[in-house]
Amino acid sequence: MIDLVVRGARLVTDDGLVDLRIDGGRFVAVSPHTDEAPEARTVLDADGALASPPYVEPHVHLDTCLTAGQPRWNRSGTLWEGIACWAERKATLTREDVLERAEEVLRWYAANGTLHVRSHVDVTDPSLVALDAMLELRDRVREVVDLQLVAFPQEGICSFPDGEKLLAEAARRGVDAIGAIPHFEDTREDGVRSVEIAVALAEEHGRFVDAHCDEIDDDQSRFVEVLATQAHRRGLRDRVTASHTTAMGSYNAAYSQKLHRILARSGINLVCNPMVNLHLQGRLDGYPRRRGLTQVKEALAAGVNVAFGGDDVMDPWYPLGTANPIQVAHVGAHATQLTAPAEVAECFRMVTDGAAAVLGLGERYGIAEGRPADLMLLPAADPFDVVRRQVAPSHVIRRGRVVATTPPRVTTLDWPGRPNEPIDFVRTGDR
Ligand SMILES: [Zn+2]
Repeated sequence: MIDLVVRGARLVTDDGLVDLRIDGGRFVAVSPHTDEAPEARTVLDADGALASPPYVEPHVHLDTCLTAGQPRWNRSGTLWEGIACWAERKATLTREDVLERAEEVLRWYAANGTLHVRSHVDVTDPSLVALDAMLELRDRVREVVDLQLVAFPQEGICSFPDGEKLLAEAARRGVDAIGAIPHFEDTREDGVRSVEIAVALAEEHGRFVDAHCDEIDDDQSRFVEVLATQAHRRGLRDRVTASHTTAMGSYNAAYSQKLHRILARSGINLVCNPMVNLHLQGRLDGYPRRRGLTQVKEALAAGVNVAFGGDDVMDPWYPLGTANPIQVAHVGAHATQLTAPAEVAECFRMVTDGAAAVLGLGERYGIAEGRPADLMLLPAADPFDVVRRQVAPSHVIRRGRVVATTPPRVTTLDWPGRPNEPIDFVRTGDR
């Protein structure tokens, strides 16, 4: 007898009902739904709910989360003041402090249906206390969440004392990816060199590259062309990701067109963090005030993989957040004007399959025979409906085991002529 059957679910890619058979933590069969009572230790009736692979968080900073206001609030709301606040808080970090905050937010992620997370960790700290804590946490949470760690040189590789040595030490201690922050380096030349250092280090250790790139409203910040060209010339393709790239929101049309060609040719991924960058960017503008986001729609049209990330949860750069990718997708749809029906569905893809591609999950992700049985059940008609109503997963399943459940939210309305009817905000029609 097998472990679990999920009966009568619908896949994102197909309209028909299916039964998912799961044993030993893997999908053993995905087949058309039948009325026969299945033989399994546990049978879960999906009742026509959408069965989707879990959410994937392609970009968050777990070492800084839950520190907003410590030791002071970021009053200007800029990236730069955030970095200054964090430098003060960083001096007080302990292993226990990092573990407690990061684990709590990972619990929020899992409850929201996210079972793969890529977290950046600040390595511009001679003690590397946060890095060691996060490496420990990566092992501890493995049963529920796959955690990837990026060595992130928050205060620079070339502009911070021993920045390059600390990055190399982080690679040696076992991070999954190497980061950079070229727009924060003192000079353009240092910025270019920092990208080259990060890419070479990643190649040497067989790691991914994930650089904070052009997170500034300066239309002259053009390090994404450097990163994409390095990826192209070294054949690294989708093992390389450019995160934030908010200066793209200020590039002129002629340069944008050139850049789209370079990006498409390189095969790199982009990660846009709409909630945080709507909050951080444009702070020095009068009116009109720029949105300060990646050219998401144009990059998608050019064939570039783009994912949406959450970036921060209650830290010096962003005081809000509940570690919920569907909220990010919802805001992202507005912020990037991806609001035609197919575009809203694309926003759902950007926090599932698109983000999985950033993490290089390959056949470790997706609902198909032989793959790990990680999924969520969404009581919704389709991805558009999930984004519109920000539907919470009723069940989150990790390796065939239900790890989170959320009962449907029920509101009852007393309305003239229609006393105490439930309201579910559902309205599905032709799209
Ligand atoms: Zn970031």
